[in-house]
Amino acid sequence: MTSRVFADKAINLLSQSGSFSQTYQAVKAVPGLNFVEQLWASYYVYMGNDIFATGLLFFCLHEFMYFGRSLPWYIIDRTPFFQKYKIQNTKLPSNKEQWECLKSVLISHFLVEAFPIWFFHPVCEKIGISFEVPFPSWQTICLQVSLFFLLEDAWHYWFHRGLHYGSFYRYIHKQHHRYAAPFGLAAEYAHPIEVMLLGFGTVGIPIMWCYFTRNLHLFTICIWITLRLFQAVDAHSGYEFPVSLHHFFPLWAGADHHDEHHHHFIGNYASSFRMWDFILDTEAGATAKQSREAKSKAKAEKHVKK
Ligand SMILES: [Zn+2]
Ligand SMILES: [Zn+2]
Repeated sequence: MTSRVFADKAINLLSQSGSFSQTYQAVKAVPGLNFVEQLWASYYVYMGNDIFATGLLFFCLHEFMYFGRSLPWYIIDRTPFFQKYKIQNTKLPSNKEQWECLKSVLISHFLVEAFPIWFFHPVCEKIGISFEVPFPSWQTICLQVSLFFLLEDAWHYWFHRGLHYGSFYRYIHKQHHRYAAPFGLAAEYAHPIEVMLLGFGTVGIPIMWCYFTRNLHLFTICIWITLRLFQAVDAHSGYEFPVSLHHFFPLWAGADHHDEHHHHFIGNYASSFRMWDFILDTEAGATAKQSREAKSKAKAEKHVKK
């Protein structure tokens, strides 16, 4: 069922000045939709302006998921019990540091993001990103989100590595490295050019995917952005627990991986996975440095023997 048909049905059932609850009741009468699909369709019908509805949805999703995921890390930072799990446990962020970071991230969200977000729906319509109900199957959503994780990781690895070169570092990426011991809120503390460049991996990759395949739903993008935000905030949390995801899924990067990047300023450039840094020998930390040195020493000795 398309949202247009859906909207017509719902509007027929509604009085002219329907509240959200009346809209929801009308939408609920349409068979074959689950609770989330009913909410989604009610929202679009109620808003009556798809551009505004999508813009507002994505802006709120970003704010709610980013700050919502950062809050538990702030509480953990203020709870002495968790200090034994802090990777750089002599460098707990102060309230002042977190407050400064919060202000900067909020300014960036309102100044850098608030403008392009209104173009998102027209772009979606142009390249065929669907916002109709019902949603695609969970298998399709999982497959596409997994693919976006893999593609974003590659994008992030190369562009983040590039940002560590000379002037790129000095004028753009240095801002993100202000905190040698990161904390959740610092995930998006970055120069506007970096926000756009690395943000393309999150927003541009699904757009490119749909441009070529014509097979993507806006709800899938919501799930992807939520998980990507969780990944970014968690990677900056600065905590390593016995239950951290990388203990069960060794390819997963997590805080253990990204904290080393902030600590050493070099190596561990990827976002979600460990394979790029492993394969291209750019792992950060003392152990990786030792192994690199041992390898080059062995190579040099071999060369001398010849
Ligand atoms: Zn960096
Ligand atoms: Zn970082």
